[in-house]
Amino acid sequence: MTARRLGILTSGGDAPGMNAAIRAATLVALDHGISVIGVEHGYRGLVRGDFRGLEADDVADIIRAGGTILGSARCPDFHERATRDTARRRLAEARIDALLIIGGNGSLAGARALADPAELGDQRLAVIGLPASIDNDVGITSLSIGVDTAMNTIVEACDKIADTASAHDRTFIVEVMGRDSGYLAMATSIAVGAEVVLFRESGKAPEALVAEVVAAVEAAHRRPGRDRHVLVVMAEGVGVSSAALKAGVDACLRGLGGDLAHTETRVTVLGHLVRGGSPSAFDRLMASRLGHAAVRAIEAGETRRMVAWSPTEGVPEGSVRSKADPRCFLVDLDAALAETQRMLDGTNPQVQWRTRVFEQIKGALQL
Ligand code: ADP
Repeated sequence: MTARRLGILTSGGDAPGMNAAIRAATLVALDHGISVIGVEHGYRGLVRGDFRGLEADDVADIIRAGGTILGSARCPDFHERATRDTARRRLAEARIDALLIIGGNGSLAGARALADPAELGDQRLAVIGLPASIDNDVGITSLSIGVDTAMNTIVEACDKIADTASAHDRTFIVEVMGRDSGYLAMATSIAVGAEVVLFRESGKAPEALVAEVVAAVEAAHRRPGRDRHVLVVMAEGVGVSSAALKAGVDACLRGLGGDLAHTETRVTVLGHLVRGGSPSAFDRLMASRLGHAAVRAIEAGETRRMVAWSPTEGVPEGSVRSKADPRCFLVDLDAALAETQRMLDGTNPQVQWRTRVFEQIKGALQL
């Protein structure tokens, strides 16, 4: 029997495009005769029973909005079986028999635990996850909801910073989010023509990072023409703070003397700016397609799956292409989370390729 009442929940770090996924899933479900319940503030709201019905009017105008209309939260207690039992009880009381969870790797781990057959007993509950994380740190899916918008925001900011850096021949260190994943820094460094990109996956010591920036400043001073600016894109998880990096670079440059000793280094931390804003056209489209495929998967009786977007590395055994959308794949949450772990520990082939290729093009990022 197909689901009759679908709950939708957004959890963990918010990402632009979450609303597009909520909207698409709601509209498709309603159109197919499934009623929709919004769960407010992630797992915290699930445990408290903060539910409200969603109708077409509630989602009519949300596709343009960043953040999430359902709110998000972190709920450390969800690691406890007793808390998840309370959540399952709330779902049963509200007669919700399917749940769409939109969030990052933590939220997807919560989804897997919630849908654990050993804990579910005979309760009927289908759970489907959608990857949403500006860091692009979820396994199997080539992109997560919010990444494209975050990249566009960083590119816009870096372009502006490059204007002023160029006018004053300054070196700018731009720090972008990404504690465990350097994807945003790597991808945007190419898009903005940065001179240097620093990211955790390279495993470099702080002194080596300082040396890389100093070498780029020296190279800029050897450049013909007037412009000697240097743009450094740095992932926050690189292992040294941007302030410490700047201090190290300044000390080295002063030691080198001459013109280099007078080079100015500035730091801009983009921080949460990158999380916000109206989603890009691509994020709206991808999130809508993922939301659609998720509802169709629930109707097909799937559970404990994540809908992945266009995996580049092939898909693990047991995955299936969505019948509703050729770009979408239904992947077991176990497999997606195992690959996420491999991204973190550096054994994922995609991460290894990225790290290798950046080492090879070092010094020539202006491709
Ligand atoms: P994100 O989803 O953006 O990665 P978090 O890692 O903070 O964000 O996870 C969001 C929430 O998911 C946590 O606050 C917690 O409620 C839940 N969660 C994370 N990991 C687990 C887990 N292993 N088991 C159960 N719930 C989890």
